[in-house]
Amino acid sequence: MSGVVLAPDTAPRGAATNREETGTFEFKAPAVLVTAGGIGGNQDLVRENWPERLGQVPRKMITGVPEYVNGRMLGFAEAAGGRIVNRDRMWHYTEGVTNWNPIWPDHGIRIIPGPSSLWFDARGQRLPVPNFPGFDTLGTLKAIGHSGYDYTWFVLTQRIIEKEFALSGSEQNPDVTNRDLKLTLSRVLPGAAGPAEAFKKHGEDFVVASSLSELVDGMNALTDEPLIDLADLERQIVARDREMDNPFTKDLQVSAIHNSRRSRGEKLARTASPHKILDPKAGPLIAVRLNIITRKTLGGLQTDLSGRVQGFDHAPVPGLWAAGEIAGFGGGGVHGYRSLEGTFLGGCLFSGRQAGRGIAEELRG
Ligand SMILES: Cc1cc2nc3c(=O)[nH]c(=O)nc-3n(C[C@H](O)[C@H](O)[C@H](O)COP(=O)(O)OP(=O)(O)OC[C@H]3O[C@@H](n4cnc5c(N)ncnc54)[C@H](O)[C@@H]3O)c2cc1C
Repeated sequence: MSGVVLAPDTAPRGAATNREETGTFEFKAPAVLVTAGGIGGNQDLVRENWPERLGQVPRKMITGVPEYVNGRMLGFAEAAGGRIVNRDRMWHYTEGVTNWNPIWPDHGIRIIPGPSSLWFDARGQRLPVPNFPGFDTLGTLKAIGHSGYDYTWFVLTQRIIEKEFALSGSEQNPDVTNRDLKLTLSRVLPGAAGPAEAFKKHGEDFVVASSLSELVDGMNALTDEPLIDLADLERQIVARDREMDNPFTKDLQVSAIHNSRRSRGEKLARTASPHKILDPKAGPLIAVRLNIITRKTLGGLQTDLSGRVQGFDHAPVPGLWAAGEIAGFGGGGVHGYRSLEGTFLGGCLFSGRQAGRGIAEELRG
């Protein structure tokens, strides 16, 4: 979406364009609509507002939104009398990898994972249930925040990366961005998608190895301390692999993989056929160091239902309107704090429509 910021001195004053009876209307007063996005591009602001409930403030994060999403306009709007609510409500992801081909500083890309990768904390312990890949973003963020470390690990196979690694971002999905049907259909063909394969090859967070001991050496080489113990990691992977032979498994992640494949779409394009991680035919083995990656802002300027910014006394700030992420997706998060994955944009669009209509009505008088 593109931002619209009409500064009062540039807004048309009293210009008799578009009167109602002629399909036109008259501006009676200047209006300012701020739609400058959230704070995810500003790590300082993200840290400053980090909620206690999510545990320690990450020392290292990568940035999942463009640099201009810096919260600057929030400051101006607040200075103009606007009330900011729920500053600590943010939605950041836990599966961030450093972009080997960055567009903005600290550019991170989120892996949108299928269910099969094994997820370990920095010390090499499986994350507590139900923190499986793609299950509960805020729950996993909280678990990591209380782990004492900022990063976690996926351990997977070539067979899993081929089917289950989607990357978020328009440049990472040329088939969708360019509406290329042929390329889109190639997603169901064998082989990892080009962008995922490029990360495997060039990404600084990726380790590829033909044996588990080589993998562990590679993982330990990427971190300040060598925290992964080969024997302990092997014990956990062997225990999980054993459950592949158990039709009544109590390993909930293995159950989730079988459950996912009941859906034809998932089976075709998103969930690898169940296999043992240590099966050499499924290899090579891959480990991915996952960083916290900033993304969405759910707090912001408090507005009424037509996008009019509220002041500290809950009275509207004259002439000031807000929509989109700067308004916490339109009035404090249309879907609430835990939200619904992938539905953020809709609230931004809807609040823009509401604000546009509200301004038109106000200016029409
Ligand atoms: C990689 C990625 C993937 C995403 N995937 C999804 C998804 O699958 N589903 C979903 O619902 N949401 C998704 N989102 C979130 C969604 O894109 C945002 O919530 C939404 O775009 C926010 O819209 P907005 O108009 O409020 O702000 P933005 O889209 O951030 O637009 C803000 C605009 O304001 C401009 N601007 C900033 N400051 C100024 C200034 N001072 N003066 C003038 N202009 C300024 C900027 O240039 C920019 O054009 C994703 C976001 C990213 C980054």
